[in-house]
Amino acid sequence: MDKDIKEILVSREQIDARVKELAAEISRDYKGKCVFFIGVLKGCFLFLSDLLKEVKVETNVDFMMVSSYSGTQSSGVVRTLLDLKQSIEGKHVIIVEDIVDSGLTMNYMLKNLATRNPKSLEICTLLNKPSCRKIKVPIKYAGFEIPEKFVVGYGLDYNELYRNLPYIGVLKESAINKG
Ligand code: 5GP
Repeated sequence: MDKDIKEILVSREQIDARVKELAAEISRDYKGKCVFFIGVLKGCFLFLSDLLKEVKVETNVDFMMVSSYSGTQSSGVVRTLLDLKQSIEGKHVIIVEDIVDSGLTMNYMLKNLATRNPKSLEICTLLNKPSCRKIKVPIKYAGFEIPEKFVVGYGLDYNELYRNLPYIGVLKESAINKG
């Protein structure tokens, strides 16, 4: 699997340290409150799991699955594949995402969730690709800014592979064509 990786962009150690920092920031900002984390499946699962273990305030967790990707290309159309099981009305919500690229997914999520009247609504993303943005989204917590490259690992896939890599890496062209 590692043989398909051209370059490691963010190491396991860098991820561990940054996740702790983000959790500390969230714990400070929401002191005395309960935070309702919404994980965006599937890419968020390792990040959310590591983040939650470090957060010191009361938490609630639920998941959504939305889709706009197939392979390495965005279709541009966002659809809800799995919705929340709980109400977020009056709750302090943080959306936990693996990566913000064009911003279309987060724009859709923000609009959709805002109609459910949360008390507050913020975004926490592990990775941010600002150079790819098509629509502006307010990101409160971001782990790492990365360049315009298709990355895998630490929850992020290419055709459902590579999610278990403990780092964020760039795929070799040969692996992309292999699909
Ligand atoms: P956006 O809607 O911001 O363009 O894209 C968000 C979603 O696209 C992410 O949740 C992720 O699933 C997928 N995505 C965007 N860039 C990448 C990337 O470099 N690698 C992988 N594996 N997924 C990506």
